[in-house]
This record gives sequence, C-alpha cells and structure tokens, in this order.
Amino acid sequence: MMTSVGPVNPSQLRYYTHQFRRNRVPGQLVVQMTDRCNAFCPQCGMRTTEHFKRHRLGLGQLKTIVDNAGRRRIQAISFTGGEPLLLLDDLIAMLNHAGAAGIPYIRTGTNGFLFRHPERPDFDERIDRLAARLAATPVRNFWISIDSADPATHEKMRGFEGVIAGIKRALPLFHAHGLYPSANLGINRNLGGEYSLPVLPRHHSEAQAADFRVACERGLGRFFRFAADLGFTIANVCYPMSLPEEDRLGEMQAVYGATSVDRVVSFARHEKALLFEGLARAIRANRSRLRIFAPLCSLHAMKQQLAGGPSGYACRGGIDFFFVDAMQGHSFPCGYRGREDAGAFGPEDSGSDAGPPGCYQCEWECFRDPSELTGPLGELLSRPLSLLRRLRRDPQFFRCWWEDLRYYRACGFFDGRKPSDMGKLAAFVGAGDAARPDHQVRAASPALTTLRLTEARRSAPAGQDRCSRLTG
Ligand code: SF4
Ligand code: SF4
Repeated sequence: MMTSVGPVNPSQLRYYTHQFRRNRVPGQLVVQMTDRCNAFCPQCGMRTTEHFKRHRLGLGQLKTIVDNAGRRRIQAISFTGGEPLLLLDDLIAMLNHAGAAGIPYIRTGTNGFLFRHPERPDFDERIDRLAARLAATPVRNFWISIDSADPATHEKMRGFEGVIAGIKRALPLFHAHGLYPSANLGINRNLGGEYSLPVLPRHHSEAQAADFRVACERGLGRFFRFAADLGFTIANVCYPMSLPEEDRLGEMQAVYGATSVDRVVSFARHEKALLFEGLARAIRANRSRLRIFAPLCSLHAMKQQLAGGPSGYACRGGIDFFFVDAMQGHSFPCGYRGREDAGAFGPEDSGSDAGPPGCYQCEWECFRDPSELTGPLGELLSRPLSLLRRLRRDPQFFRCWWEDLRYYRACGFFDGRKPSDMGKLAAFVGAGDAARPDHQVRAASPALTTLRLTEARRSAPAGQDRCSRLTG
C-alpha cells in the first residue's frame, strides 16, 4: 500500500516542517472497514470460505475515527478491508467525510469483484456509474489488487473468472472520470505466472541464489509490463510478510485472528533479500513504463536489514502511523503488533508518548516505505549530525533516496487523479530485464522452476498475506 507524498500547500509545508523538527512525520491511518470478503484468495484468512464471525465498523464509528484523524492532523488515510466496495455507500460517505475533515491524501481499493462479467450489456453503464461516484469524492488513489501477470492464475486465485478482461474494459471508463487506478500486487509465488517463484532451499548454491533472484526480477518485470498493458498508470507492490517462527510465536501477532497458513505468500529470510534485489532491478527496468511507487531506498534498507540487522530508518508505526481494526474499531501501532491494543482511536496525539521509533520487526510496506522516505527529512531538521553520520555509513541509501525523489517528482507524486506524464517518465528508462530480450535474461534453473506449489507448502515457512488482507 502506498502513502502519497506530493506537492504541498504552504500550510501543509509549515506543518510538515514543524513535525520534522520534533522528529515526527506526517501521520497516516489505515482503517479496516470490514473483514468481510467475497473472494477466494488461497493466501488469505478472510476469504469467503473461511468460517469466522465477520465484522464491520458502523458509520457512526467510522465518522468518529475520521473526525479524530482530522483533529490529529493525520495526512493520509486508507479505507481497507476485507473488501471495502461491499460497503460502497459507507465508503463513499467516508471518502467525503475524510476530505471534509481536512485529510489531503485519501485512498481505497478493491479486489475487483465488480469488474466481473464484462460481457454483460450493462457492464459499461454500471462501471461508469461506479467511477463517477468515486470520482465525485476527494479520493486520491484507488487501487485494484492483481495477483499475477497471468490472467488465468489471477482469476483462479481470486475466484473471479473473467475479471481481468473486465478490469481492462473498466480502466478507460475510470480515466474518463479523471481517476487513474493503481495495480496493487501482493508479492506471491504466482506473480509472474503460476509457480513463477520457486522455493529456494535454505542450503543453496550461489548459482541457485542467482537463479532465484533472476526469477524474481523476471516475474516482477512481467507483472509491471502486464499492468501497463492492461491500462494501469500506477503500480505498487506489497512485500511478503512471512515471519520467522520465533516472531510468529513471540511479539508479533496479526491484529486479526484469521491468518493464512497457505505458503503461496511465504518467503524465508534468505529468499526475501534476493527478492528485494530482484524487485529493485525490475522497478528500475520499468520506471519509464508506469508510475511504480515502491521506493528503492526502502528496498535497499530492508535488504541490508535482512543481511545484518537494523538498517535505514525505524518504522513510524505507533508513533505517526496507526491501524484501526474492523472488529472493535481499536487502534494498534500497525496491522502486526496486535498485542498492543490502544483502545479507540482518540482525538489526542498518542504518538508523543510512544518514545523514539525503534521497530524494524517486519517489512510491511504501508508503514516501512513512508518511514524510509521521510526519515532523512526528519533527521535533517531534528538531528543533522546524525544524518551526516548515516550518510557516511550508508551512502548507497541516499543515492537510492535521491533517485526516488527525482522519480516521484516525475510521477507527479502518484496523484491518481492525473495521468502519467510519459515524457517525464522517459528520463527513467533503465537497464534490466525489460530492456533486454527475454533470451538474454538468464532463465531460472530447471531444478528450481520445476518445483511445484505442493513442494512450496512443504518447504516454506508459514506466512500471512497482510497485503491483500489489508488492501483487499
Ligand atoms: S516494522 Fe512497522 S509495521 Fe512492522 S511490526 Fe514494526 S511498527 Fe509494525
Ligand atoms: S486477499 Fe483481499 S480480496 Fe482476497 S480474500 Fe483476502 S481480503 Fe479478500
């Protein structure tokens, strides 16, 4: 999930500067409206076939949360699920309410169920109405989850036959209303096509590691090209959240009890470092094609962290960023520190009591990416000497960060109400798999590619599909 950062007005600029000076960053809130869902995703405990008591936040409860977010000058709010569009009327009301509360960056999304049956005669009219309703709100970014570059694989995972054709047909209708949806990929082993990311054994050779990294780069590159060909102008990537055994049993606990045991979204530590490397390469290769939010500086920091402990900027979860669950409407530091229930999301700034940021426990992009992106600005204004030391210690992070900023500017800061400026993106034509014919990209070794999901189930650690569950 992305947090939009963009051109700001003078009042915002003053506020952001004030926040950075006190080592705080512009706040973000993720609100889970419901844990109801109508999809069949194998990677998610909220799929329709799971049996547990479902919840939704009432309109009054939602309004109070949004009002309090406005009072706390939260800058970015996401309405998520489950499937938010199952509560379309409430969602539209909340998007408007968030705008009225003065929150500038508002986003929501869907699993795409409304884009099924594009062959029906009323499809265009129905989708046009939906696009018009959303476009009439102040929503800035609207995401559609896509699991795979292979339509059949995506449709099988979601249980929505024909939905890719529907999305392709729907996108121009959204564009006509001035709304440019984002393709939202939760990284999984099927992303480049079924079983495109094999399991890399814990004990592996260098050649196997290189093959795995190339399989990631290649699959992700295929995904970005697929999203652009469908008509998306923005893409974002949710990093895998599989946790080591000791973490799952320890401090971290998903806020929802419904966690997935399917391994299609599970990646071991040694796989994640290579995955991030492959992702960075695929992003560089495709940045001129569509606006890709995932920041290189964050991938660099997390790769370093996986290799040798905390690196980059600590997560702002529980300080500037918060998550509200659908079960009780309670606030948590994020979707994964479920043992830290802070009760109702109140009007007072609770972050100042939380102490300095120090959490590096996971790679949840919703909170990690904006923490890395805003980190240098806060440090510059609050602890410049510390920034200088960091610069000397890890100059590569700052090279990536600067490259991200230049790119984000060219992307119009991912304003989902505007089309891409392809002329500006053209300056970011990169080297990588997309720039080379397929035969020049080293194919993953047969030994790895022939592994099937059943093999993955045996070998990979259990995981949690936090991305899809939090973003529908
Ligand atoms: S790193 Fe951030 S998202 Fe992950 S557990 Fe810590 S506070 Fe939560
Ligand atoms: S991943 Fe999203 S769409 Fe799929 S079952 Fe879970 S909440 Fe529903």
